[in-house]
Amino acid sequence: MNYGTCCVLWCRNTRRNSSCKFYLFPTSKLNLQLRKMWIAAVNRKNDDGSPWSPKPYDRICSNHFIGGKKSDDMASLSYVPSIFPSSNHFYQLIRLFKKK
Ligand SMILES: [Zn+2]
Repeated sequence: MNYGTCCVLWCRNTRRNSSCKFYLFPTSKLNLQLRKMWIAAVNRKNDDGSPWSPKPYDRICSNHFIGGKKSDDMASLSYVPSIFPSSNHFYQLIRLFKKK
């Protein structure tokens, strides 16, 4: 069950280990465009290589928004998540874990 965890690859934030806010993906028809933008930003694929789409319970944490907060203002840089751990970052984390 991944309720309360962030759907971004390599992101390990959960409601338990962080003080991040967790945002559900936009679902309403009005926000279909925004939903697509978020999905494109997350840039995930399913294990079989097919395009990923968020489940109703999938959330993204506030760490991925500039300023640490989602904005409902289309003109704002934090309208769409834009901060993602790179695979480089991931490998740095692996090294850190190995040190311990
Ligand atoms: Zn996250």
